[in-house]
Amino acid sequence: MHERLAFARAAYDAVALYDPKRTPVELDLTDNTNLWGIPPTAERTLREMPAAAVTRYPTLYAAELKAALASLHGVSADMIVTGCGSDDILDSAMRAFGEPGELVAGSEPSFAMIPIFAQMNALRWRGISELSIAGTPQLMHQPDIDALLATNAKILYLCSPNNPTGALIARERIERVIARARGVVFIDEAYAEFAGVSSIDLVAQSERVLIIRTMSKAYGLAGLRLGYAIGQPALVTEVEKSRGPYKLNAMAERAALAALRHDMAWVEEHVALAVTVRERLADALRAMGLAPMPSAANFVCVPIANCVAVGQAMRARGVAVRPFPALPAVGDALRISVGPWALMERMLHALAPALREVNG
Ligand code: PMP
Repeated sequence: MHERLAFARAAYDAVALYDPKRTPVELDLTDNTNLWGIPPTAERTLREMPAAAVTRYPTLYAAELKAALASLHGVSADMIVTGCGSDDILDSAMRAFGEPGELVAGSEPSFAMIPIFAQMNALRWRGISELSIAGTPQLMHQPDIDALLATNAKILYLCSPNNPTGALIARERIERVIARARGVVFIDEAYAEFAGVSSIDLVAQSERVLIIRTMSKAYGLAGLRLGYAIGQPALVTEVEKSRGPYKLNAMAERAALAALRHDMAWVEEHVALAVTVRERLADALRAMGLAPMPSAANFVCVPIANCVAVGQAMRARGVAVRPFPALPAVGDALRISVGPWALMERMLHALAPALREVNG
């Protein structure tokens, strides 16, 4: 640790550098990316990149990519803003709508970066423990909408399917939040392709909804850092102002355009594969006596006692999964990215002895 700089921003005193100390491992199943690879035309486009994509600046606001994304989602191009990953969108949007000191609220457990982005923008964060609801397994873990609305937060964050649980949020809950929220509602749909459902249509009904999407997961382009959001033009313009120009690099924009124009069949095929493997993996985990949570994403969250130690024991066998100790409403759990079945078998061969070693 360094000494505090006298001229450092006070709001940053409580901000730690985000650095989860990732050490290289043979099989990394921690980040829910596309483990099948890069869409083929995007890959060819990257290999054949013209020099100007490197020597010149990219376009200001990625107009061509916005047009392609608009046609994919059936909205107009002025309803899209792009960013350097959806992380950048979330960060820019918090800065766009939250005055320093205002509140961001969201359900817990959820995406770990949200409280950090709030802090980075001098906003306050309040996490509201999710509800466990008996009945339909897919909808067992739901945000406590009344408690979220009662925070009166300027920004409400919902994630569907949720990271790290994989749970979808029921449509009527999302609608209730939008109808009653005081401020802006962020709906993070980083994993929506794997769920086959989206709230994008709700944008037409409300000027306060921002849907956040990414090309890091289903599209296999995480290293290029491509995210985007959809909302009504006035809302999107505020995010774009906060984001600023030249945020999407030219190589990323060209590869993403190639994928959207030529690789959609590849993307859909691999989304379908991920869904099939996800269910097969859940079956295999159940066969081991575990109780994986129903997932609508490309990962499976499985409650496991002493998850940190189990994760370490798996890592000693060359496999990394993400431990989440003491998740609200869940307890200790491991989150496992889905990929080709051979990788899942390799993971299961590390999990079984790790469980015996740690939990007996
Ligand atoms: N939202 C959620 C829910 C995520 O899980 C992630 C990636 N872990 C992101 C946003 C950010 O993704 P990216 O910046 O790669 O678009």
